[in-house]
Amino acid sequence: MNSTRDELLQRLGFSGFFQAQFQAILATSDGYSEAHVGRILSEARGEYWLSDGQGTERAVLAGRLKHAAIRLCVGDFVLFEGARNGTLVRIVHAFERSSSFQRRLPGGTSQAQLIAANVDLAIVVCAFSREDAERSAHGHGLNVRRIERYLRAIRDAPARALVLLNKADLSATAAISAECLRAELRCVPVLLASAEQGAGLAELESELRPGTTAVLVGSSGVGKSSLTNRLVQAPVQAVKAVRDSDMRGRHTTTFRELFVLPGGGLLIDTPGMREFALFADDETDLGSSGFPEIDALSPACRFRDCRHRNEPGCAVLAAVELGTVDGERLEQAHKFERELAWQRERHDPLRRRAARSGYRAQTRSLREGQKQRRGG
Ligand code: GDP
Ligand code: ZN
Repeated sequence: MNSTRDELLQRLGFSGFFQAQFQAILATSDGYSEAHVGRILSEARGEYWLSDGQGTERAVLAGRLKHAAIRLCVGDFVLFEGARNGTLVRIVHAFERSSSFQRRLPGGTSQAQLIAANVDLAIVVCAFSREDAERSAHGHGLNVRRIERYLRAIRDAPARALVLLNKADLSATAAISAECLRAELRCVPVLLASAEQGAGLAELESELRPGTTAVLVGSSGVGKSSLTNRLVQAPVQAVKAVRDSDMRGRHTTTFRELFVLPGGGLLIDTPGMREFALFADDETDLGSSGFPEIDALSPACRFRDCRHRNEPGCAVLAAVELGTVDGERLEQAHKFERELAWQRERHDPLRRRAARSGYRAQTRSLREGQKQRRGG
């Protein structure tokens, strides 16, 4: 690689993590001497758009990768080969990911849906609505439980998280709401913005440093496309003309896409997700809750593997009692833990079998207990 190409790739987010992989590949095989590095900008029906830092290419997976059922998504780094004269190029290698933001596919499956790969920062976009403004000062109208769900998936990616409260222009009490949310979420930056009026974007832009990849996530209608257009400084995404009350049941045709921002940051927009189910596999860490105030107290529990349910000497339960930890947050942590454990079991057939035999043993002893009681 020459130095200008190195630089162009770095601007695409091709950091040391990927450079090291590339060096290792070149050192161990000369099969890829004709290959170029590219990053996936978008995907549709098995075809990909790639950038190599200089231009874009349309690409398909090489047969070998297709056979191996390799699945790629926006943000992935790949090696590609082939003519570069407007015809399709072939993706011959996929780099290991530094992170992957994913959810469980809706519809009762145990499959993951990759949403974005190699992201450093995930921005959870929420929005105020006119209805909230008209409502009395009760709460802030933001769905904290849903935000926590996104934060959990972001932690597992792993990536840094930021919450962006958009449509601040619709709420006279936006600043107070942001303050409340900050107190509830702890340790997660909460920014206020109005994509429509172009307000509050400087702080967001300062987070999108050159070579940093950020992804916008959140329900449809919250203004992700509007934000993207503001940040890209061009009308690259179609903004849907909808009323706030229409947010449900709307069909969206937007593709996930990766954009290079004028300031050098990289931004991935995602289509709105109505449902956000957590995904877990063997790599998911179930040992910690992902709620910082709960994890910080864990070492003070009497038992090292305390689950903070009813164990004696539990520092977290004591803090809930004292009011220094929010009981609803602990409940949510338990909910995620159950959901993730169940999900991981389904994903891993061996563990599933073990869990089932455990369940059988449990029901057997239950039944025997009942028999004994009935008999005796
Ligand atoms: P997406 O589905 O998340 O991509 O949302 P869009 O960007 O398509 O925006 C949905 C609707 O919200 C559109 O009608 C936008 O004009 C509107 N919208 C976006 N940002 C703002 C904002 O900051 N304030 C107000 N009042 N409306 C906004
Ligand atoms: Zn505990």
